[in-house]
Amino acid sequence: MQYWKKLTRSEIRNRVDEALNHNIDYHERSILGIPASHLDGNVFNKDADSLDNAPFLKTMVANPNHIGCHTMGESEPFFAGTQKLEQELISIVAEDILNCESDKYDGYVASGGTEANIQAIWIYRNLFKKEFGANYDEMCILFSEDSHYSMHKAGNVLNLDIITVPVTDNSREITRETVKQQIESAKARGKKYFIVVANMMTTMFGSVDDINIYSETLTNTGVEFRIHVDGAFGGFVYPFSTNSEAMTFANPHVSSVTLDAHKMVQAPFGTGIFIARKGLIDNVFTNEAQYVSGLDATLIGSRSGANAIAVWMILQTYGPHDWFEKIHILNHRSNWLCNQLKEARVDFYRHPGSNIVTIRAKHVAKELAHKYGLVPDQHNGNAQWYKIVIMEHVHIDHLIPFVEELKQSEKVTNHSILVTKKHRGTHFPFRFFRTRFFAGK
Ligand SMILES: *Cc1c(COP(=O)(O)O)cnc(C)c1O
Repeated sequence: MQYWKKLTRSEIRNRVDEALNHNIDYHERSILGIPASHLDGNVFNKDADSLDNAPFLKTMVANPNHIGCHTMGESEPFFAGTQKLEQELISIVAEDILNCESDKYDGYVASGGTEANIQAIWIYRNLFKKEFGANYDEMCILFSEDSHYSMHKAGNVLNLDIITVPVTDNSREITRETVKQQIESAKARGKKYFIVVANMMTTMFGSVDDINIYSETLTNTGVEFRIHVDGAFGGFVYPFSTNSEAMTFANPHVSSVTLDAHKMVQAPFGTGIFIARKGLIDNVFTNEAQYVSGLDATLIGSRSGANAIAVWMILQTYGPHDWFEKIHILNHRSNWLCNQLKEARVDFYRHPGSNIVTIRAKHVAKELAHKYGLVPDQHNGNAQWYKIVIMEHVHIDHLIPFVEELKQSEKVTNHSILVTKKHRGTHFPFRFFRTRFFAGK
């Protein structure tokens, strides 16, 4: 661990204070040229006493702008202090979570996973144009049918064709055969440059693509490709629940990664994270951004520095070990739910170690799904699946009434021969486990 250490509250407060002291203070200095200021003092409390123990709110009120990318060249000097903490956050994610070599990456806090995915695809589109003289109709975006819809947005915004790979119905996997088929047929239609998005946990299923299938098949086909990993959901989960490094920068085929801190990290919205190998981001430098010091290599433009501070604070509060434990507590709850579903013979999908459990819709009455806020794969009345995401606030005590109702519902009793009443002891999970599994009965 290069950067990531658990810090105390006062250490965090001091680091944020120090960072803010290296930003300009609109109250102390005459800053005449920038179209920005602290938050409106008539509306937002700027009283030092109430903000001193609230470093995030203090940063919000100071309102630093983190426009541009701060892992390269120069940046706006007015906000250098908090930009440096963002740089540290990017280092934690790139090096300590995603196994990138020191200083071999660029990255920034984006508005979300959507922006980070579009940023990646934008980079590879320009790279293929610049390095290979690729035409638009020779390029395409390749991803599985379970991928997030932001890839469709990217294709639309960036004028690129999309090619989706079907997945198996039960295991939600891309296969060598289907990937090969799609690549061959794309090639026959003149596609030579492939922008691949591999999923590190999909939104609906938590499934993880076998990235080697993409890299090996594309290499064998002899076409140019770059792989982006979409870890918007899984970026802060999967690296802690697996020993595999295939979705990290330890894999030479991984060029960039998206993570979202506003999902599992519970940071404020506006905290997507984009990381790419050093130099790739240069493909989207906007030289016309002349009024921005250091120009701009991001899609977004102005963005809140307080967002980056929030993510930095959360990760530093936990440190790597507490974060690992947190993910494993969610994993434990997910195991509990899966065991209950198995007992009731309810069909579901769950990737090992994932905190998303996706249940076949045939077992779930609409009213039940509505009551417990389950999310369907489609909202058009044709739901095939409903998902449960085991977040921090989803305790086993909240799952119990759902499981009880599910087991008693017609859709389940009609479907399966229920185990005897004696064993339906949802309220006593440990006794249940011990008698049924540990004693080998
Ligand atoms: C949520 C999500 C996105 C989009 O992220 P936003 O932050 O909503 O823009 C992209 N990909 C995956 C896998 C996601 O789960």
